[in-house]
Amino acid sequence: MSAHADRAAQLHRTAIVWDAHTCLPLHPDADLTVLRRHHAAGATFVSVNIGMDLNPLPQILSVLASFRAQLHAHPELFVPVDTAEDVLRAKREGKLAVAFDLEGALPLLGRPEMVQLFYDLGVRQMHLAYNRNNEAAGGCYDEDMPLTPLGRRIVAAIYRAGMFMDLSHTGHRSSLEIMAMGLGPVIFSHANPRALKNDKRNATLEQIHACAQTGGVICVNGVGRFLTDPKGGTPAIVEAIDWLVERIGPEYVGIGLDYSYPTQGLDDEPPGLDRDYWWPRREGYGSGLSGIRIAAPEQLPEITEALVARGYPEDAVRRILGENMLALAQKLWKPSRAEAGSRGAQLRS
Ligand SMILES: [Zn+2]
Repeated sequence: MSAHADRAAQLHRTAIVWDAHTCLPLHPDADLTVLRRHHAAGATFVSVNIGMDLNPLPQILSVLASFRAQLHAHPELFVPVDTAEDVLRAKREGKLAVAFDLEGALPLLGRPEMVQLFYDLGVRQMHLAYNRNNEAAGGCYDEDMPLTPLGRRIVAAIYRAGMFMDLSHTGHRSSLEIMAMGLGPVIFSHANPRALKNDKRNATLEQIHACAQTGGVICVNGVGRFLTDPKGGTPAIVEAIDWLVERIGPEYVGIGLDYSYPTQGLDDEPPGLDRDYWWPRREGYGSGLSGIRIAAPEQLPEITEALVARGYPEDAVRRILGENMLALAQKLWKPSRAEAGSRGAQLRS
């Protein structure tokens, strides 16, 4: 092993490694322990998607119930996340910390107080619109619309709960208006610079600067479609990291690979789903997606090694790998009401 590979391996082992977004089949029969791959790749924390605007609420709730039950059924592997302290505990105990994320505001049924309910069930980040406009905000593949009054109330509820305000998949204008509300840091949990790959899912320099100004973090996405390499290779991920670091510094950069675990033979598509509406052919989806690959969790150590090889200082590597996101969690995440209740129950029993 070369000297830098050795140093990188040691750094990766001791770092907080945070993957801000991953997907499993959105089916209650999906086996959550496939996340062992994240654990084996050195991840400390992963945010698991439980649904998008296109998923009916009964589907989302059954998935959330199943994933929560599986987290608790495997204490040898998982630490269910309530606060940032749980991520640090997972690191100390050699386990994988898991929280959930929601992609879009439609599952809130127009009720901002649903944010706290999802928070109490383990959801730690959400964005307002998935690709298309909805009653709260604009989606990135739709007409550029402003944030609505309902959207503003939901944003306020997100900060009140202590959830991450995620701007991935959100329309340009709505995202800037959310940041202009000035309620705190935002994240792009899985998005790349649009200057590197022109796709409306990627962030403009204006959005990137605005995000950094809130004290937020842009997590580089491993989907080949959003990188300069359709195969999602590690050099292209590092290229996106470099691009961001040169413009906003390593304090505002993270990783959200957006890896989709295999289907496990499960069909999780809602009946009658209009795929062309959610992933428009005119934006290059449909048959155009063949040959696209998503970076796998196994590339996490490769990213560390590449950053070390490029001469990144150790503290910058640690920040990008996870400390930036951990610091945000320490700042924003509060103990959930449900967990506080169960701790009380434990004390009484
Ligand atoms: Zn997404």
